Amino acid sequence: MENDRNDQPTEANRKDPTPTVYPRSKHNVSRSYIDPDALKIMYRLIRHGYRAYLVGGGVRDLLLEKIPKDFDIATDATPRKIKGLFRNCRIIGRRFKLAHIYFKNNKIIEVATFRDSQDPIGDQGDETEGNGTLAADNRYGTAATDAFRRDLTINGLFYDLSTFSVIDYVGGMNDLREGLIRVIGEPEVRFLEDPVRMLRVIRHAARAGFSVEPKCWAAIEANHELILQASPVRIYEEIKKDLLSGSALPILQLLSHSSLMQHLLPEFLVVDTPLLVEGSFFATVLARIDSDVQSGAKLTITPVLSLFALFFASYPTSAESFHTYFEDKGDLSDHIQSCFVKLAVPRKERERVEDVLSLWLKLMSTPLERLKKLNLERRRSLDEVTWLLYWLSDDPDSDQRLAVVREARERRKKVRRGRRRNRRDPQRNDGGRAGDKRPKLL
Ligand code: ATP
Ligand code: MG
Repeated sequence: MENDRNDQPTEANRKDPTPTVYPRSKHNVSRSYIDPDALKIMYRLIRHGYRAYLVGGGVRDLLLEKIPKDFDIATDATPRKIKGLFRNCRIIGRRFKLAHIYFKNNKIIEVATFRDSQDPIGDQGDETEGNGTLAADNRYGTAATDAFRRDLTINGLFYDLSTFSVIDYVGGMNDLREGLIRVIGEPEVRFLEDPVRMLRVIRHAARAGFSVEPKCWAAIEANHELILQASPVRIYEEIKKDLLSGSALPILQLLSHSSLMQHLLPEFLVVDTPLLVEGSFFATVLARIDSDVQSGAKLTITPVLSLFALFFASYPTSAESFHTYFEDKGDLSDHIQSCFVKLAVPRKERERVEDVLSLWLKLMSTPLERLKKLNLERRRSLDEVTWLLYWLSDDPDSDQRLAVVREARERRKKVRRGRRRNRRDPQRNDGGRAGDKRPKLL
């Protein structure tokens, strides 16, 4: 059970600043767009005398009339009290404890007790599962302290279900209206606390099409090297999230205008053949990926990194120049090792990329009429290579290759479906094997 000694908000006596409260008539957040399970949680907390606010990206996206990815809740109930109210609740977190409330279809809603100003989110280690040994670190705060230690003003707004109002301690509503990304507090101080916030500034500016407040941009330019102090694994995870966000192109474009890109993907900074310029071959392909993600494609990072590695080899400006370059196979493995020099791409992921690209090369160098003999359905990277061909396909020849690969995928799916059916119903199988002792049906 969680060890929850500091059971009372520690800052209850502190004089909190007064927030600006926007009543229902002054904002567009409607309950009907909030996840019904999140509503249930908030209603139950409120009924038991607690405050319960929808916080963070959920409120921001509702105000921007976008569909939120997740609905996080903040409350003045401590994790132990939350657990007492919800049977489907688990307490997680080593340093800072949070409640996870579980629903059908693997849905989890996070309920966090208001955090203290001394306890910035975003630093490492606070989301890891733990057994509660560091509970003495738990320091709870108030709604105000919780708002001020968030990253951006547009991410620091609260929606209060008990009054249907938006509570704004940080000026987020004005910045949303003006299309401005502003860090809460002094940007230099906040970046020093957690350098990943610089990436979050770029992400949210690019995703929403907002501009970055000049002081904040200047702080990034002056402090970009701080990013080297963040954990490489965390940075890789952040970049991965951006590449699969459906806004990879604008995010990479804005990153390349900042001094951060040199520490992340310097391959994009090659001056002679800029990949990210609007209308370039690469930008067009990346825009296709973004649009696939926006229409619901479930992508993994492998085909995206494979595509990048392909472009980093020769910086092609058209599909043809690509093929010419790759007629000679070269040393693919060496090339992949030399890609992503600054990004902590795990070894396994690099191996997957290599597998995808070697299959791609094989496909491109095999004459069309012999493609069907390649036994494609047995290849591990068939799905990834299909994405690659699909994104790059813009001439009849590559369209035909894509068609062959798609057929192979369909065949493979059929075989797999058949196997699954046989596993569920062994009597349809050849019977008698693997412990199936039942008599065969005649
Ligand atoms: P997304 O739509 O990408 O999920 P988000 O704003 O919800 O955007 P999360 O990473 O889910 O991003 O974080 C949830 C909230 O936690 C943020 O809105 C912000 O208020 C706060 N937050 C996240 N990371 C940090 C950080 N590094 N420093 C301070 N606050 C943070
Ligand atoms: Mg979120």
